[in-house]
This record gives sequence, structure tokens and C-alpha cells, in this order.
Amino acid sequence: MKPFFFTMIAFVLIISHTVQAQEQPAFKKGERAPGTTFTGTVWVNYLIPNDSTFNCAVGHVTFEAGARSFWHTHQAGQFLLVTAGQGYTQERGKPVQLIQKGDVVICKAGVEHWHGATPGSSMIHIAINPNTENGLVTWLKPVMDAEYPKK
Ligand code: MN
Repeated sequence: MKPFFFTMIAFVLIISHTVQAQEQPAFKKGERAPGTTFTGTVWVNYLIPNDSTFNCAVGHVTFEAGARSFWHTHQAGQFLLVTAGQGYTQERGKPVQLIQKGDVVICKAGVEHWHGATPGSSMIHIAINPNTENGLVTWLKPVMDAEYPKK
């Protein structure tokens, strides 16, 4: 009985360790994003800061459940690579879209939009902002609770 019991305990520990290792994000969460442009708890790791050589800013953004950006536009557009969880994105005047791990989102230049987590799941994306010599982002109003899907 006892050897079997300890074998099972070891088995459960190995399995849970493996699952945790798989769920560990590749990059650090970074610092808290400001409440003036994000609602809820959001973390940003500036993987590649903007500079005049590449004119391309790359950030790793972690949205905890319920968190989202304010409405905004990118003067030169943006690519979002979703690496974990489930979230939402929406262009002004269009339906909310569910996005999840493995999705690629193209935010067209000058189009008002927002992105964030779902109420029940965190979401991580890598945001690539090209051609920053044309501008990066213009922040607009918060995504109000009435605009944000309940689930
Ligand atoms: Mn955006």
C-alpha cells in the first residue's frame, strides 16, 4: 500500500510540474501599465524599445482577466501576436472579436480599436508597432463596462 501511495504522489507532482512549465510565459511580465490608458491590471515588458534605426517598437503585454486597453489608434498600424489565454479586440463600429493563443491580429493604420482579456481569462500578446517614424499611438476614451462583453 505505502509504495503505491508514494508512487502516486510522485506521479501527481511530476504531472503538475510539467503542466506549470508549459503554462509559464516566455517573457517576464514587466511593469504595470498606466491607468490613464488601460482599465484593470495590465503589465508591459518593452522587449524592443523604439529607436530611429529600426523604427519598430515591440512590447509583451499581459492583461489580467477583465483588463483592456482604452480605445486608440496607431498612425502606422500594429500587429498583435496572441501567445496565451483568451481576449477580445474590436474596431469602432464593428462587433467584438474573440482572440486566443495562436491568433494574429492586424490593426490597420488610423483605425480606432481596443484589445484586452476576456472577463474569465487573462490574455498575453506581443504587440509589434512598425514604421514608428509616422507615429506610435493616440489614446482615446476608456472602453466602458457597457461596451465590454460580460463573458
Ligand atoms: Mn492597438
